Amino acid sequence: MGLASSSLTIVQPLHSLPSLLAIRDLRAAVLAARKRNAQRDEPQALLAVDPLAALRALRLASAPVWAPARSPESLPELVATLGSPAIMRLLDVPSVDVDRTSGIRALWLHSIATACAAEQLARRSGAARPEQAYFRGLLRDLGPWLQQLGIHHDGARPDWSSDDLVRLWRLPLRAEDSAPTGPGPASDGTPQSAQHPIDPLAWVRLAPEELVDAADLLATLAGFEHPTAPGPAMPADASLDEVIEELRRDVDARLARVGLNVELVRAPRQVPEDERTLFAGNVETNLTDLVARLLDCREAPSYSAAATLGTAAALRFLDFDRAFMVTWNPACRRVWVRAKSDLTELGLVRRGVRPTDRENDTLAEAQRTGEARMLVRGDPRDGLCGAIAADRALVVPVRTTQRLPSFLVVDRAATARLLDVPKDGANARVLAGFMSVLIEILELRLRRSRAERNGTIAGLTGLANRRVGIFTLEHALASAKRTQRPLCVMMIDLDEFKSLNDTYGHLVGDHALRVTSSVLRRTVRSSDLVCRYGGEEFLVILPETEAEDATILATRLFTAVAEAGKAHGLPITCSIGLSSLRTEDSLDGLVGRADSALYASKSRGRNRFSADTE
Ligand code: GH3
Ligand code: MG
Ligand code: MG
Repeated sequence: MGLASSSLTIVQPLHSLPSLLAIRDLRAAVLAARKRNAQRDEPQALLAVDPLAALRALRLASAPVWAPARSPESLPELVATLGSPAIMRLLDVPSVDVDRTSGIRALWLHSIATACAAEQLARRSGAARPEQAYFRGLLRDLGPWLQQLGIHHDGARPDWSSDDLVRLWRLPLRAEDSAPTGPGPASDGTPQSAQHPIDPLAWVRLAPEELVDAADLLATLAGFEHPTAPGPAMPADASLDEVIEELRRDVDARLARVGLNVELVRAPRQVPEDERTLFAGNVETNLTDLVARLLDCREAPSYSAAATLGTAAALRFLDFDRAFMVTWNPACRRVWVRAKSDLTELGLVRRGVRPTDRENDTLAEAQRTGEARMLVRGDPRDGLCGAIAADRALVVPVRTTQRLPSFLVVDRAATARLLDVPKDGANARVLAGFMSVLIEILELRLRRSRAERNGTIAGLTGLANRRVGIFTLEHALASAKRTQRPLCVMMIDLDEFKSLNDTYGHLVGDHALRVTSSVLRRTVRSSDLVCRYGGEEFLVILPETEAEDATILATRLFTAVAEAGKAHGLPITCSIGLSSLRTEDSLDGLVGRADSALYASKSRGRNRFSADTE
C-alpha cells in the first residue's frame, strides 16, 4: 500500500478538485442563491454538501500543532473548531469543469444521500448521535473519492486507499469508519453491504458501525447510486417506500439550502467562465500594499506583535492560507511554532516539533542562502509539515543572525492550491525581510530602554536609585515651597546588616534587601517615592504629607519590615529618621536632619523611628 513505500511523496490528492462547490456550473448556482439571501448557518450548510471540503477542514482542525482541542466528530463541531472565516476561505477555491461521465457528480449525490440516510437511521435507532452519523456518512466514500480524483487528474489510478489518508492526514476517523468500500488490495471495490447485506429496516438492532453501511444501501435504493459500485438488487418492498421518500426529500432540502437541486447536480450546464471567488474573495497579491502597510507598523511593541503582523500580512497581501512563525534549534533539531495566522482562534501547542531529516536540511539551506525553500512532507508521522497538517509549505528565514534562527512558514493547505516556488517564494522573502527589520528595530528599542532603565533603577531591588531620589526630591522641595504644602522625608537604614551578611551570607543579605524594598514600596502611597540611597539605606520622599501623618507611617514601616523579617525567618529590622520641611530648608538641610534622626534611632537601640520635624 502507498504508505509503506519508501518513495512515497504524497501530493495533495485534492488539488484537482478541492471542493465540490468548485465545479463551475454548480458554483454559479450557489453564488446566485447566495446573492438572493445569505444565511446565518452558511458554512455548515455548505460543508454538509461538500465532503471534500469537509475532509480538508477535518484535517486542518486535527493538526497536532493545536493545543489540545477535541477532534471534531460532527459538522457543527468542525465549524465551531475552525470558525466561519476559516471555513469560508477553505471553500474559496478556483473553479473547474466536471462533466457527467467522470462519476464525480454521481458519487457526490451518493455521499450526501448516505449522510442524510445515516442521520435518519441514527435518529430512529438511537445508535449514534445524528450529527455524528451525518458526518460519517458524508466521509464514508473517502477512498472512491480519492480514486476518482486521481483518475480525473492524470488518468492513472492512485495506489493508495482511504486508510492511508486517515493515517497520513491524522484524521480522527477509525479506518473502518471512513470507507469500507475503499479500493485497495484488501477490497475489490464492492460495497461491504453487498457482501453482508444489512436490512436497513432493522435499524432498531443496528450497531453504530453498521449504521453507515445501512445508510449507504438506503442511498442506493433511493436512486443515488454509487457510480463504480452499484448496490445489490433488493426485492421491491413497499415498506421501504416511505423511508426512501423521506430520504429524497432530505437530500433535496440539503441541496436547496445552498441553492442547488438534484437535477442541477446530475446534469452539467454550460455557464460562462466566471472567476469570481465564492466567498472570502481571494487576495490579489499586492506587494506595494504589503510594503506600505509594514512601513506603517515599524513600531511593533513586542516580538509577538511583530510575528502576528507578519503572519497576518502573509494572508492579507500574499494570498497564503496560513502563516506560522517558527524558531529552530539546529543543535537539538527541534522547531517551536511561536505564532500563526489562519483565520481560526485555535491556540498553539507549547512543546517543540521534531522536523524530519529532510526538513532539517531544508531549514539549514534556507538559513544559509537566505532564500525561500519548499518543505515537502515525506514522512507520514512526524515532521513540521505533519504537525501543521500541510503537504507542502514554503519556508523563509526571518533573522539569520540570532542564535536560534526564526522562519516564516506559509502554505495553501486550506484551499489545497499549489505553491509557486519562484513567485510565492519571492513574495514570502520580501515579507520575511520586513519582519527582520521590524524585529531589529524592536530589539534596538528594547536595548535603549533597558539602558535608560539601568541609569535610573537600582538593579537588585528594582527601586529608583539615589540619583533619581535626589532629582525627585529637588522637584518636590521646590514645589512644596511654591505651593506652601508640607513635605517629609525619611532615611531608613537596616539594623546590624553587616552581621546578617556575616551570619547568613551575602545572598541572603540580598534577599533581605529585596524583601525590605518590597515592604517599603507596598506600604507607602503611590505618590510617595522610595529610593535606594546606598547599600542598605533608603530615602523615602513624602510629598503633601504632614509630620503627624509621616510619624504614623514611620511606625507602620518599621513594624512591617520587622514582621516581614519574621515571616522570612530573618532578623531584619530597620531604623528610621524622619524630618519635615521648614520654610528656609535646603535639600541638604532636610536630608541632614533625617540622617541625624536616624542616628538617634540607632543610638536608642534600633528598630524604631525618631523625628526631627520642628
Ligand atoms: P547598623 O545597625 O549600625 O546600621 O549596622 P550595619 O551592620 O547595618 O552597619 P554598616 O553600615 O556598618 O553595614 C552595612 C552593611 O550592609 C555592610 C555591607 O556589607 C552591607 N551591604 C550593603 N549593600 C549591600 C548589598 O547590596 N547586599 C548585601 N548582601 N549587603 C550589603
Ligand atoms: Mg545598617
Ligand atoms: Mg548603613
